[in-house]
Amino acid sequence: MKLETLTDLYIHQLKDLHSAEKQLLKALPKMAKAATSKKLRAGFEKHLEETKEHALRLETILSSHQQTTRGPKCKAMEGLVEEGAEIIEEEADAEVRDAGLICAAQKVEHYEIASYGCARTFAELIGDKAGMKLLQKTLNEEGATDKKLSELAMSEINISAND
Ligand code: FE
Ligand code: FE
Repeated sequence: MKLETLTDLYIHQLKDLHSAEKQLLKALPKMAKAATSKKLRAGFEKHLEETKEHALRLETILSSHQQTTRGPKCKAMEGLVEEGAEIIEEEADAEVRDAGLICAAQKVEHYEIASYGCARTFAELIGDKAGMKLLQKTLNEEGATDKKLSELAMSEINISAND
């Protein structure tokens, strides 16, 4: 795909994000299963439901531009998910593993926050108001997830892991 306009770049980013969300959909159940803390597990399960919505929103925006979701695999998410898998596979103390899972999940959220921030701004610039609104919604949910993970880490999980 040749990138000639900001719209081309916007579509490119949307496809990359869709690939990222699809990969995350497969990884989150494994992260939930690996979590010992009930709150952390519930957090991953909640974000799994949100992630399904995120993928659907991207499909809606892409189809409004007569585009499919087809595109290259998001390599950043592939790497981030791989790092999460390493934490899961490592022999670890339960609380320490939970702290590691939070860390891996926050890396994912920060990647998504950066990507959705770019896509939202591109939507605004090219005048895709509906797309902008949907992307902002997702961006807010990614931000809220990141904040919740920080709170969970600082209020209990990192503390237990440090015992
Ligand atoms: Fe997401
Ligand atoms: Fe996310």
